[in-house]
Amino acid sequence: MTGFSELDLLAQFHRTWDKLLTTAFVTLFTYVIFCSAMVALILLLRRSGSYKFRIRATISGVADMRRELVQSILSISIFQIAMVGSRVLAMGFGIFIDLRDPLPLWKIVPSFPLIFIAHDAYFYWTHRVMHLSGFYRTMHRVHHRSVAPTAYAAYSFAFLEAWIQGSFLVFYVLLFPANTTLIVAFVFVEIIYNSTIHSGVDPFPPWLVTHRIFGWVAGSVYHDLHHRTMNWNFGLYFRLWDRLMGTEHPDFVRIHNYIHSPENDGGAYKLLSGHRPRREGGA
Ligand SMILES: [Zn+2]
Ligand SMILES: [Zn+2]
Repeated sequence: MTGFSELDLLAQFHRTWDKLLTTAFVTLFTYVIFCSAMVALILLLRRSGSYKFRIRATISGVADMRRELVQSILSISIFQIAMVGSRVLAMGFGIFIDLRDPLPLWKIVPSFPLIFIAHDAYFYWTHRVMHLSGFYRTMHRVHHRSVAPTAYAAYSFAFLEAWIQGSFLVFYVLLFPANTTLIVAFVFVEIIYNSTIHSGVDPFPPWLVTHRIFGWVAGSVYHDLHHRTMNWNFGLYFRLWDRLMGTEHPDFVRIHNYIHSPENDGGAYKLLSGHRPRREGGA
């Protein structure tokens, strides 16, 4: 849309700001409630000595959990600032990102899987770049301070990482059909998924992860192994990019199967070839 007046611009800015405050509140609320439930679950499993769905015996201690929580809340605030910043910048170029458009169902339904496929590709490549030696220290080291994370670590990012991850939605809505319903649904599922894969619990049905034909979902063990070994398993939702690029951990399936077997005793990482434990926070 071009040729808008100053009043249009002001109204658009207020609308954007209102929307973002709502999004920030919904995001924060969902994150805190769901992550706290997952932390309570892992603590209960530890207390009962159960290893059902549980990846490892170790969990971040209280100080680490506090750091993960504070850092994630800061990141969620940065996501909103990144989105406002990019939208205001787009207005400067005469582009209004208006999500009130009541898109037809045939456009929105395919957009729901598409947004996860696009986010997975975006996450994989930005994540790989952040692991390069020139970027790791300033962008990604904060996230890897959690070796045995809890759900609170989902958005435990340094400023630049938060900005990059927060910008995904802006790129998406500029390139593909989207409206508020789609974005809210995406954000909700993304928070639940991201918190779960950091929780130390793996509730994903094994066939969705390791089945020869249907096993493409990454799930919790996949990302937990990334925190454990650093330079493998960069994907978020799917195993696709890691398999294509040869960055999937060679012991992943073995470790996953052990965790989902009755023998699981919380020590699956002893199966890592050349096993060398990293320092872990917590007990
Ligand atoms: Zn992580
Ligand atoms: Zn990483």
